Amino acid sequence: MKDRTHSLPSFAAWLNKGFDLRKHAAEMRDARVAPEISPASVFLALFHAFIFRLPSFQQLDHELSHSHLQHWVGAERSFHDDTLRYSLCGFDLGPLQAMLVEVNRRFKRGKVFDPGRVQGRLVAALDGVEVLSSFSRHCESCLERRVSRKDQAGRKIEEIQYYHRAVGCQMIHSPVKPFLDWEWLQPGESEETAALRLLRRLPDLYGSRFFDILVLDALYAQTPVLELAHEMGWDVVISLKQNSRDLYQSAVRLFARRPPDAAFSETQDHKLYRIQLWDTEGLPFTVNNPEPVRVVRSEEVLERNRFREGERTRHCTDHEWLWITTLSQSAFSAAVIRQLGHSRWKQENNGWLELTKHWAFKHGFLHACRHRPQRVNAEGHREPVPNHGLAAVTWILLIAVALSSCFVLRHSKLVRRDHLTAVAVASQLRAWISKAPPSIRAPD
Ligand SMILES: [Zn+2]
Repeated sequence: MKDRTHSLPSFAAWLNKGFDLRKHAAEMRDARVAPEISPASVFLALFHAFIFRLPSFQQLDHELSHSHLQHWVGAERSFHDDTLRYSLCGFDLGPLQAMLVEVNRRFKRGKVFDPGRVQGRLVAALDGVEVLSSFSRHCESCLERRVSRKDQAGRKIEEIQYYHRAVGCQMIHSPVKPFLDWEWLQPGESEETAALRLLRRLPDLYGSRFFDILVLDALYAQTPVLELAHEMGWDVVISLKQNSRDLYQSAVRLFARRPPDAAFSETQDHKLYRIQLWDTEGLPFTVNNPEPVRVVRSEEVLERNRFREGERTRHCTDHEWLWITTLSQSAFSAAVIRQLGHSRWKQENNGWLELTKHWAFKHGFLHACRHRPQRVNAEGHREPVPNHGLAAVTWILLIAVALSSCFVLRHSKLVRRDHLTAVAVASQLRAWISKAPPSIRAPD
């Protein structure tokens, strides 16, 4: 008889055969001394919590004491929230990052990134995201900013807000869109500094040219970014806004004097876009770096129907977009540059939004957790180990998201047969753990 729902053993078989899940789990380390519950079990527990889309640590705690999950993750007994926190706060981040890299390399070898190539090229995007903010809870690596808000009496007050921000680099052209790497902003540094650090280490992690085109926000229209991309052999498509004043103004002035180079209409989700494109090569990037760049401008009128007081009316809005690119006019038309430029939205819509909406990402797991293993510092004093909790949880989440979306979008026949959503697959896998007999143990 054919399988009617997904089972955890078949999912695990796919993970172990294709991605060595158990082997990677065995390499996990943390700062505890001779712990009863191994770092491998802690990793597998949290990995499955994300696969099942459990909403919180408390829920995972509950599952570990009332279902067969503890056997499945290789623990001899049930364990709680406090063990998870204590382990994760001192987790070694290296094996987690190495696992995400290995998963992505196997995706590439397995042709997961082949669908959706843009004229044969693989496309990644890099962007910043704020992970959490708080007026009260803070840790030693929090970023700080002064913000104005109103107190209960309606008076305007200024307060210090603590937050964490990171940059992530994600594949965006294919249906499976895993993150390739992730970097936290350190206190006092700019987003560009963290981004350059991430981009510079990509070739060490993935070899040169894991992808071909990098799509970036206007913040990254900077000489160091262009130079790095050139050095790495990546082409770029970068939004151009008024922060690059000279280039922006010379492009706008040039395009105002001439008719568009292309004009067409496009329908998407019942919305009609009327698009005019201007395209030029050879504008100097900045006064200090007059390296010629290509600029594409898109003027878009979006027409859609609106219902006001029972009447259907046609409503139009105007939008303007500009991009800088190193891709040549002969190989990539202005229409393709526009498509690439807009694909950065995919990162915002499928990347951050997906993580925060469906994966409980912004819950600030373990942020400012003081319950941490101790170590002896250079002066011979005992002190808590640096808190890696938020970073460890983020890596495990990124690994779980990558593998689960590949399973749903590429592997599962049931998803195609029964038109299942990713959330439905998660609940089928989760249901299996509470139905299974007590003797279950994950296959090695
Ligand atoms: Zn913090």
